[in-house]
Amino acid sequence: MSDEGERLTELAKRRGFFLQSANAYGGVSGFYTYGPQGAALKDNVEDAWRDRYVTREGHMEISAPDVMPEAVFEASGHLDGFDDMIIECPECGESHRADHLVEDNTDIEEAESISTDEIADLIADHDLVCPTCGTELAGEPVDDFNLMFETNIGPGSSSPGYLRPETAQGIFVEFPQLAEYARNQLPFGVAQIGKAYRNEISPRKSLIRVREFTQAELEHFIDPETDEPPLERVEDVTVPLYSVAEQESEDGSVQERTIREAVDEGIIGDEWVAFYLGLSKAWYERIGVDMDRFRYRQHLPGELAHYAADCWDAESELGGDWVEITGFAYRGDYDLKKHESHSGEDYTVFKQYDEPVTVERPTVDPDMSVLGPEFGGAAGDIGAELESLVERDPDAFDGDTVTVVVDGEEYTVDIEATGYSVEEVTESGEHIRPHVVEPSFGVGRLVYTVLAHAHTTDEVDGEERSYLALPPEVAPTTVGVFPLMDKDGLGERAREVASDLRGAGLEVTYDDSGAIGRRYRRQDEVGTPFCVTVDYETQEDGTVTVRERDTTAQQRVAIDDLGETLTALRDGDLSFDEL
Ligand code: AMP
Repeated sequence: MSDEGERLTELAKRRGFFLQSANAYGGVSGFYTYGPQGAALKDNVEDAWRDRYVTREGHMEISAPDVMPEAVFEASGHLDGFDDMIIECPECGESHRADHLVEDNTDIEEAESISTDEIADLIADHDLVCPTCGTELAGEPVDDFNLMFETNIGPGSSSPGYLRPETAQGIFVEFPQLAEYARNQLPFGVAQIGKAYRNEISPRKSLIRVREFTQAELEHFIDPETDEPPLERVEDVTVPLYSVAEQESEDGSVQERTIREAVDEGIIGDEWVAFYLGLSKAWYERIGVDMDRFRYRQHLPGELAHYAADCWDAESELGGDWVEITGFAYRGDYDLKKHESHSGEDYTVFKQYDEPVTVERPTVDPDMSVLGPEFGGAAGDIGAELESLVERDPDAFDGDTVTVVVDGEEYTVDIEATGYSVEEVTESGEHIRPHVVEPSFGVGRLVYTVLAHAHTTDEVDGEERSYLALPPEVAPTTVGVFPLMDKDGLGERAREVASDLRGAGLEVTYDDSGAIGRRYRRQDEVGTPFCVTVDYETQEDGTVTVRERDTTAQQRVAIDDLGETLTALRDGDLSFDEL
């Protein structure tokens, strides 16, 4: 682990941000418990996400189960293809993620997109060894390992279920009902914040790669023909882009572009994705991601899911590595089509035209009294094939005969026997299958990034100080309240102040132990932006000291105004200088 990682893990455990679960039993890799500070921070990040991507955009939020039946993941493709590459050490038996071994020990990046056979060759060519015991891995097989956790629904094993590997499927599978809630009006968005589970081969870097984590996902359903994103809202936002071209060029680098420039220059291929990249930049800043350690990276052709038109990851720099914190993907109608064909349900919406339109519709009505005697047992299939052909390729019916292929064999049918005609029909609308744009955030990685980027050291009164420069909105605690000393009634007064501030809806912690300087340091270390001290002057004039974390500047504020003042400071409606 990097120095930064070690420092953070130590702080996280000591001060209650996060710790490995079940340590009493030796701990288990890839599972973390958020302590009191971490749970509060995580909640605040989720609230800020909800505010940005649900409330302010007018989308819906749902909460689907963590366990879903096998059929859902058969349709989504996870059962067959949600695999990572695994290699097992012949000596110590430890399993490793084969593509990560290659990435960690060669110049190759994004090895995930390379085939298992090629990865096995690379491991042999580079003489790679087991990271646990040092045994040579050349010649060991590289296999696919499915990352889903399997379980049984109910007693027995007749009804397998899986812990969802992403929250998205819980949205896609309910699309027919969700479209009704949206009154079949595209575009509409459905969001979900919830747990996802992946049986990672080698969990690592504490919260970065775990087996149970929280995702915040938005599925924005659009009409691909007519719906356009409100690009004007974000077109002037400048974003740091690491495009495919830059990644593939020898001295490529991150390029700053406005969203408008990036779309016009074709750097970002899809306008919806561009919209979300623009919208999200300010949100990352809002929760405390350091913009000097942030970039958007485009997926390389080999990384791109086969159904995705354009895909970018938001990445943050952590301990010298770039880590994906969000995936932005244009998924087309892939997911809805899959669930439609597997379930047999209708995953389209009916789009009403402004006015009914009359269209010419080519149809067939195969004459079975001719096809039956002529083609025998194949007649039924030939009839069905003619019906499908007229929809796909009406021009095939221009000649005197029509040729269809059934089970690999060609049959030529006289045009008269197909019953081909062109009818005029009036239609009031059409069924369309929406496309979907998906921003998918990993909450744990956001929390980790925010902590790492907030960590700061400086010098106060000749001593080194370590503090978390967290934005007040996400800091676990907003205000620390202290009596200067717990005597002469100062303690009672301070407890009263703390209680009133809690009543005003602020996150407050009370501390009367140790020297005042030590108490400030304790709050600094967990990122509490404001501290209030009740002292002897309070007894005289009803004011307290308010101290700001980053500058350590202090101001006196009347107790009567305290709740309002601190709320305004937290919400950014007032700056400390203005006090
Ligand atoms: P993906 O579906 O793989 O694109 O993941 C979406 C988001 O979930 C990523 O951007 C990560 O932030 C997060 N994520 C994925 N896998 C893990 C993991 N094993 N541990 C923590 N977060 C993860």
